[in-house]
Parts: sequence; structure tokens; C-alpha cells
Amino acid sequence: MKGPFLLWMLMFAGLLTAIWMGNRFGFIGYVIGLPTGAAVMLGILSGATLTWIYVQGLLFRGVPEFPVCRNGCCRGGRLSDPGDYKTVWNDDWTVRGFRCRCGVTYQKVGRRFVELAPDGSVQPYLIWNRLKGWCPDPQLEAG
Ligand SMILES: [Zn+2]
Repeated sequence: MKGPFLLWMLMFAGLLTAIWMGNRFGFIGYVIGLPTGAAVMLGILSGATLTWIYVQGLLFRGVPEFPVCRNGCCRGGRLSDPGDYKTVWNDDWTVRGFRCRCGVTYQKVGRRFVELAPDGSVQPYLIWNRLKGWCPDPQLEAG
């Protein structure tokens, strides 16, 4: 559903630009207009998508989505890029967690970034605060 829609948007923008540039510059305008319009539209769409991911992350998931690990040596990439973290899968292809290079596995639970112990229990680690960024999880001191 999303792929064809994107293509149609690009085609539409390309055609409009081609017609507009064709009117102004003649034949060469048509030739250059189509890819130019499509490229500009692609830029606008990816800009909007990036902004949306960023705003969503800022509100619900954290930016970057993967903070520094407990040992302070591994970090996530930009936005939702796992960076140094590797996805760990369950046998049924659901995501078990994210393992950093030190071998510690973490899980994302809403705005929390928790450590997953080998026995399957979770340890609070960090929580995303919309004003302060990634902070130590208050549950850590409480229990
Ligand atoms: Zn690490």
C-alpha cells in the first residue's frame, strides 16, 4: 500500500514539474523537470518521515532510541538505528532484546531501557524523560 502510493506521489510531482518547466524552457524543461520534481518530492517526503520518527521518539521512545550501555562503551546510532546493539531473536522470530558488544542484553519497554538477565528477569536501567533525556530509572533505587 505504501510503496505504490509513494511512487504515484513521485510521478505526480515529476509530471507537474515537467509540465511547468516544459512551458518555461521547452523540450529540455520536460526532460529535466520529471526527475527534478520526483527528486524534490522524495526529499520532502523523507524529510517529513524523519521529522515524524524524531517527534515520535522524543515523545514515546527516546532519542536516540538506544542509549549508552551500562558499561558506557556501546551506544546506539542516530534515531532508531541500533548502532552497536544487535537484535536478539526468539525461536518464534519475535524480538527478544538487543545485545550490546559487551554481551549484555537489553529490552525496550515503552520509554524504559531495561537489562535482561540470563534467567529472563529484567533489571531497570534507564528511562526516557522528555525534558532531560535518558535518566537512571527511579525503580532502580526503589527496589
Ligand atoms: Zn556495552
